[in-house]
Amino acid sequence: MASDLSGERLATLKQRLGQRYEELRTEVRRELLEADSEGFLDLAGRVHDPGDESVADLLVDVGLAVVDRHVEAIRETEAALLRLRTGTYGTCVDCGTRIGYERLLTEPTAARCVTCQEVHERAFAQPGRSTL
Ligand SMILES: [Zn+2]
Repeated sequence: MASDLSGERLATLKQRLGQRYEELRTEVRRELLEADSEGFLDLAGRVHDPGDESVADLLVDVGLAVVDRHVEAIRETEAALLRLRTGTYGTCVDCGTRIGYERLLTEPTAARCVTCQEVHERAFAQPGRSTL
């Protein structure tokens, strides 16, 4: 199935994702440094320059509430960047339908079409938690 994501559109989305990823890492790094614990200094450096490592995996056991808040967003962003690399970006992970460019613009980490997202949110609804 042909994608409606032209090279130019993909580049725009890729840039947004990269920017978001960088913002999240900057924020988390600042929080690690502010935690004022020796143990986090090394981690802050790795978050800043992760190479091929998953930042979400680095942070999953940190146990700082301020950092925990960001882990899910980082994980979603990493997953979207991975889909970009593997060429499955913009395709619903549940039903294979193309996700509209407008939706991706407002929500570049979207992994599902609107229909599947609603089903997913109903199935995994957590009171008081925004699903973005
Ligand atoms: Zn779908």
